[in-house]
Amino acid sequence: MQSNPLFNTFNKLASIYSPSFDERELCDALKALLSPLGVSFEEDTIQGGSCGNLFGRLAGELNGEPILLSSHMDTVEPARGKQAILHEDGRITSDGTTILGADNISGICIILEALRRIREAGTPHRSVELLFPVAEERYGAGSALFDYSKVKAHTAFVLDLSGEIGTAANAAPTIFSFEITAAGKASHSGLAPQNGINAITAVASAISKLSWGEPEQGLTANIGLIKGGELGNIIPALCSVTGEIRSLNHNAVLKHWQRVKATFEQEAEKIGATPEFTFKTEITAYETPMDSTAVKLFKKACEKSGITAGIHPTLGGSDNNNFALHGIEGLVLACSMHEVHSVREYALLQELEQCTELLINILTEEEAK
Ligand SMILES: [Zn+2]
Repeated sequence: MQSNPLFNTFNKLASIYSPSFDERELCDALKALLSPLGVSFEEDTIQGGSCGNLFGRLAGELNGEPILLSSHMDTVEPARGKQAILHEDGRITSDGTTILGADNISGICIILEALRRIREAGTPHRSVELLFPVAEERYGAGSALFDYSKVKAHTAFVLDLSGEIGTAANAAPTIFSFEITAAGKASHSGLAPQNGINAITAVASAISKLSWGEPEQGLTANIGLIKGGELGNIIPALCSVTGEIRSLNHNAVLKHWQRVKATFEQEAEKIGATPEFTFKTEITAYETPMDSTAVKLFKKACEKSGITAGIHPTLGGSDNNNFALHGIEGLVLACSMHEVHSVREYALLQELEQCTELLINILTEEEAK
């Protein structure tokens, strides 16, 4: 069982430490695996990282535009020293002290194995473009900086989703993050309370006037961190909160943010405090239509493999959010990564095999009409 080519590649890549912005070693290993497949590649430069996004091309014999395939090179922590262990039942896990890195090594292995098999069998296939971004786990920071004028494809498959093989995401939300700091005035709370402006109460009253959780259908809002004050006998001069808003509807997010902002302004003003806002659209919502080439190709490929295609929106972001901003219609495909971002993370050899077959079906299908 140890000589399974899919597991061998998985094992090799999973043993490399590849956190966000430090993907150098993984990228070099990937280049060494891509060269024998006939893939030509180039790497861009990402400031603050040891490595750039890796972009590759492979010409095919079938008609049609190239298809873009993508999986990211970075992983979350704890990842130092991780090793893949293949169990009797085909389950692949870490030793339980680190993540496994199936997110996103599974996707990378499936792409490599599909290309290897197509090449070995001499099967005519579509032209392929490959993008292995860095720093996906930082809200797609790597793919956000890629130069998309290099890409000819208008259809993408991003292998970066949990769920059974055949599951695909055709829509993902806008994720908007914010930090609000209320500035009041410090004073001794016992000796001169009249001289103080309590920043914590300004923030608290704004929070209590707003709804959190799912304030409207399909929109979530959260305060996840609060900081402020110094001592029990000092009226706090500063209080800050950090949170996020997400929805599949980009405008609904912006509208809700205006509500949050106005409430903090109003509640701060009541007691003479001043709020300051920093915010950022981390990723932008997209929806790939059900009549798109990506969906048609995917459904056909699933049918050929006898797999049920399940296409749904997801509430997580991926590099596909950035592709969509550049006119690329893509699907994010389940690729055998389960309980990701935990030390219980696992992949299944049977699923890696199944997804490889599915990807071969996609790449060997003539352009969908
Ligand atoms: Zn991922």
